[in-house]
Amino acid sequence: AKEAGKHTYRVFSPEMNQKVAKCIWLDTELRRAIEEKQFVLHYQPLINLCTGRLHSVEALLRWQSTSRGLVPPGEFIRFTEESGLIVPIGRWLMQEAVSQAEHWRENGLDIRISINVSARQLRDAEIVNQLRELVERSHSTRTLIDIELTESCFIEDEKAAVELMRQFKQLGARILLDDFGTGYSSLSQLTRLPIDVIKLDRSFITGIDQNFQAQSLVRSVLSLARAFGFTIVAEGVETEREVQFLKDIGVDYAQGFFYARPMAADTFEAWLADKKKL
Ligand code: C2E
Ligand code: CA
Ligand code: CA
Ligand code: CA
Repeated sequence: AKEAGKHTYRVFSPEMNQKVAKCIWLDTELRRAIEEKQFVLHYQPLINLCTGRLHSVEALLRWQSTSRGLVPPGEFIRFTEESGLIVPIGRWLMQEAVSQAEHWRENGLDIRISINVSARQLRDAEIVNQLRELVERSHSTRTLIDIELTESCFIEDEKAAVELMRQFKQLGARILLDDFGTGYSSLSQLTRLPIDVIKLDRSFITGIDQNFQAQSLVRSVLSLARAFGFTIVAEGVETEREVQFLKDIGVDYAQGFFYARPMAADTFEAWLADKKKL
């Protein structure tokens, strides 16, 4: 009885009501955002450390809210994953990324775009079917879209996730394992997954030139990558020293504020034109 009482109290606590109210508000706002197409993609370059040239871009979602301005994904993505709204948002996003890649290609820019896909979106095969339809409708037989997944995508049903990855790869997409090092999978587990690229999480890259533990972790991931044919991307590089260190030990690609922040498409185009002049 005591427990039930406690429970009842919790359900009706003002704090709880506030939380519920906030969720309802966010849910309403996000549904409107989907209808009114208030989302935009920003693009952040991935740089080839050997040549210093652009390798590809990552598409990062922003919400252009009428009341709150440009809202970063950290403030709403988790909510959309829990409510399932990530599915319609993800459909819009894939369509948008494909149009952008095609637009760039028509203008002579061959730029691959990687998109972030969460575990919730992998629960059914619809996401692969959407990409397949987009490929069939285009002039090309292979997609310019790559897929970024996190280790959490393999927890629920590894077999099903691996099957979807195979289907994505058949369309010409590459699979990037995002935020590597923050999850629970061991290096040996990685060899079971059909991934092409490992993205080392920013937490290992920040200050790596002075952090011996992070250095040995990155070195061991690198030697595994060599053995199994994975490419390595270092996320979140912010300093010249980090870049120099990563280059010296043979990391393939890097991404971070040192090169550029995520940018709207037109800003990215200007950045690229400027960089090519150098
Ligand atoms: P992520 O996929 O790990 O994306 C990288 C995040 O690190 C981006 O934050 C980017 O702006 C930030 N970043 C890049 N370089 C640096 C750097 O040098 N220093 C620092 N401090 N940060 C850097 P953003 O755009 O706020 O995105 C945060 C997270 O939201 C993403 O992390 C990803 O997990 C999620 N997200 C973003 N867009 C999408 C999306 O379209 N779908 C899904 N499911 N998740 C998304
Ligand atoms: Ca990512
Ligand atoms: Ca990441
Ligand atoms: Ca991250």
